[in-house]
Amino acid sequence: MAQPSPPASPTPPPPSRLASRYRAYRLPAFVLAAALLAAVGVATVAGLRSFANSAEWVEHSYQVIAEIESTLAATRTVESSARGYRLTDRPALHAEYLASIPAALNHSSELIALTRDNPRQHRLARDVERRVRMRLAEIDRLLEMHMRDPQQARLSSQTSHGAEQMRALTAVADAMREYERALLSARDARTERNATLLTALVIGGLLLALGLLALLMLNLWQENKRSRALERESRQALAELEASAAERQRLTERHRSLSHYAGLLQSCQTLQEAMDMTAHVIADLIPEFGGRCYILRASQNLAETAARFGREAIASADLLHPDDCWALRRGRTHRSQAHDGGVRCAHLARAEAGADSGGDPRWSLCVPLMAQNTSLGLLCLSGERPPREADLALIQSIAEQLSLAVVNLQLRETLRVQSLRDPLTGLFNRRYLEENLQRELLRCQRRKLPLSVLMLDVDHFKRFNDTHGHAAGDALLARVGQLMQELVRNEDIACRYGGEEFTIVLPEADAAAAMQRAEQIRAAIAATTIVHLRQTFGPATCSIGLATSVGDRDTPQQLLQAADAALYRAKAEGRDRVVDGNKPAAADA
Ligand code: GH3
Ligand code: MG
Ligand code: MG
Repeated sequence: MAQPSPPASPTPPPPSRLASRYRAYRLPAFVLAAALLAAVGVATVAGLRSFANSAEWVEHSYQVIAEIESTLAATRTVESSARGYRLTDRPALHAEYLASIPAALNHSSELIALTRDNPRQHRLARDVERRVRMRLAEIDRLLEMHMRDPQQARLSSQTSHGAEQMRALTAVADAMREYERALLSARDARTERNATLLTALVIGGLLLALGLLALLMLNLWQENKRSRALERESRQALAELEASAAERQRLTERHRSLSHYAGLLQSCQTLQEAMDMTAHVIADLIPEFGGRCYILRASQNLAETAARFGREAIASADLLHPDDCWALRRGRTHRSQAHDGGVRCAHLARAEAGADSGGDPRWSLCVPLMAQNTSLGLLCLSGERPPREADLALIQSIAEQLSLAVVNLQLRETLRVQSLRDPLTGLFNRRYLEENLQRELLRCQRRKLPLSVLMLDVDHFKRFNDTHGHAAGDALLARVGQLMQELVRNEDIACRYGGEEFTIVLPEADAAAAMQRAEQIRAAIAATTIVHLRQTFGPATCSIGLATSVGDRDTPQQLLQAADAALYRAKAEGRDRVVDGNKPAAADA
């Protein structure tokens, strides 16, 4: 028996497919993105601090410029209030003069203090203060002179260098202002440059970092997608593996059951036993299908149901002619659908009229049981769903096993019959008689029952042979055998003792019953003619001797001898009669 090959197990995907090609770059890319973001942060903080610093310096420059303007303005106030007083002598102007002096000094001092960080401006601020003091001193000198001698003071003011002093002071103050403005615009330009640079740096850094992060996300997403797909594949592969393991297990169990079945088939004694067991095994292994096992008669003209299994989806006939089955006609497995009108076996029930035949999934399968090109029988199955390849292989295997078993059993039966029966008459032979007479006699003696034996011989058979030929003699013997078989009970043993002599063992029959039966047989033979080669012969007569065993005194040999002796007497008394050997002969009496 071929071992069913297990289905190939699915191969798992290679692990390298899981990892992205760019996996090695992922950490460096992440570190780079983080560093870029940190750099952008640091640059932003530094830029803000630089802007704050620049703003302080701008404010400082504006303070310096404001202080220059205040110093000049205060000095001019001192100058104008002193001149006004000299011209009008109004005390209010003198008071204003006195009040504005400290302002001019304070502003110039403040200017020195503000410019301490810049040596050039500091130097000019000192110059401004010196010139302010010189101017204030000159104004004060003229005012004092006016108080002492106005005329003198007027003259002195005309020669005074007040205007020059003021121009020189204004020139120095202008130089300071210009320088401070130059500083301002240089700072503005630098701040502008820094702002542009910082903006570019922040935007560039951010874009780069975001780009890297986007790539990372894309890579992770792709890998995630791939791993999900792989997980799906793995789950599927696992399910297939489990299914294939279950299938393999099923096939192994089937294989074991088939081996067991093959072993049991060898031990079957009769065809019926083999068929019953086959039906049981099919029902056990493929319970979803139903059907029957047929045995073809020796005449090959009829197959009859020997065993049934499961529930047939399409009913099959109890008896079928081989011409009704495509499988038996062709000697090959035949499969058809419920709606396959043309190629459907005639022994299968027809689809119901009006049914949607195109969608009917029912199917049937006929597998012939064959040996050496001779049909022995048929397996017929049907089901609601199409059979799988494994089911078909199993049924085929069962059919092969069963065919071998059927042919063996038939051979064994033939041999057994041949060894026990006489081929011409179909009656048991002498060997069988000797084996069974002993057993039957013992059984009857044990149970205190009688047992009778009839010994039959055809009268003048030699003459019959000589007159009509040996073949006609054979035909007569066959007819006598047939009559004997018809006229004895099942439990009686009718056998051909040899030549034209026959013996019948009648267990549990007393002399009277045996006599009655012997008379029946004798009369039947005497009333029968035979037809051989279109010629009618006979009737022939026969003589029968009877012996009965009562109690336990007889042996088979004694009984047979007694019957033989009675037969001899029948011959002697004129033939065509029955002589009861249990009764004494007329002459003896
Ligand atoms: P009877 O018994 O009446 O005294 O006469 P008979 O002619 O029958 O006597 P016998 O027993 O001598 O003859 C038996 C004959 O049967 C002899 C033999 O040729 C014949 N015979 C034996 N066996 C067969 C057989 O198988 N076929 C045929 N055709 N003849 C057989
Ligand atoms: Mg004889
Ligand atoms: Mg004879």
